[in-house]
Amino acid sequence: ACSVRQKAIDRVYSKIHEWNERKAKENLITFVSGCILPADQEKFLKKFDLLFGLSQVTELPSLLQQYGVATPLSLDSTARPSLQNFWQVKPHYSSNFEAFVPIQNGCDKFCTFCAVPYTRGREVSRPSQEILDEVTGLVRRGYKSITLLGQNVNSYGQDKKGQELSFAELLKEVGEIGRREQVSFWTYFTSPHPRDMTVEVLETIARYPVLAKQIHLPLQSGDDKVLIRMNRNHTLERYREVAQDVGRILPTATLFTDIIVGFTGETEEQFQNTRQAMQEFQFQMAFIAQYSPRPGAASARWDDDVPLEVKKARLHDLSSVLHTTSLAYNQTLLGKKMLVLVEKHDRKPGFMAARTEGKIGVRFASDDESLMGKFVEVEITSAVPLSLEGKLVSGHPASS
Ligand code: SF4
Repeated sequence: ACSVRQKAIDRVYSKIHEWNERKAKENLITFVSGCILPADQEKFLKKFDLLFGLSQVTELPSLLQQYGVATPLSLDSTARPSLQNFWQVKPHYSSNFEAFVPIQNGCDKFCTFCAVPYTRGREVSRPSQEILDEVTGLVRRGYKSITLLGQNVNSYGQDKKGQELSFAELLKEVGEIGRREQVSFWTYFTSPHPRDMTVEVLETIARYPVLAKQIHLPLQSGDDKVLIRMNRNHTLERYREVAQDVGRILPTATLFTDIIVGFTGETEEQFQNTRQAMQEFQFQMAFIAQYSPRPGAASARWDDDVPLEVKKARLHDLSSVLHTTSLAYNQTLLGKKMLVLVEKHDRKPGFMAARTEGKIGVRFASDDESLMGKFVEVEITSAVPLSLEGKLVSGHPASS
């Protein structure tokens, strides 16, 4: 469960009845885990047998033993519970070509619309060597897309200065893995904060082919007053500087963002500033959300005073700006031959779905499942907002 998003909590509630029905027939123990706010914890405790936070995962075997369960989990239950132990749990990767590697947990930023600092606590960086070992292992097993994960990924290492690498140094070491292993893969990271984005990080990405030329940089609002009320600790001008650095240092990179419309107190004029910013930055992709108060976040105490209809209209308006900027970018790719990573069958029968290094979706005519998880070259033949169509240049993987 995740208290950061009310939807995730609601989904757990919607399943409890079904699980309890099973529990009545089978010998089951139900437990819930995740980043859960105290108010949700109290309610869950009445519905589940066990509840534990992610950092208490090593306690799971002993908790289960109270129920007479001999657990097959290979966790060291005598170890002091900590995030450290959590990170050492060997993950089960659900894909054989794409993996997500946690590098950090928690957040020190306290944006007023967000509950993460309260649910997950302060920033803690995972030891650099553990991250690099995991990435090396994945690369050796043929993984092609690796995403470094954290709530505030580019402040990685700041809590352990001198002890662990900085974020730029960590990226450099991932780049060196690519050099040493002589394989192609794309490394992404999400989500960074504009305040902590440095020229050094961007220059490191420019230097190594395995560091993908794609930057996801949340803007949230294009109005300085709203940014202050959101406690984002950056201005539109600061964002502009970073976006210009991205364009100068990584000219082929795509720029993605997150935007919230209808934040509490957002006026029409303030919304128009966000609209203008979207036109200025010409994002290739934007995840636009209607503001809704998150229990536990500071802004949940303020009036959610922008009517739903207004929020919907603003979202619709920004979506059409995004469609225009995305189409303009996609049209520049027409006729180009591009390396893409094949992911799955497309919804359109007879087509495969792939992504460019800049994470733009491309489909091409093929039914060849053996291409999944491989790089192939396609020539872009048509462009629409948010996606592309191409034709396979070679039936053989362009690179392994
Ligand atoms: Fe939440 Fe991200 Fe702000 Fe941290 S930086 S408080 S995770 S929105």
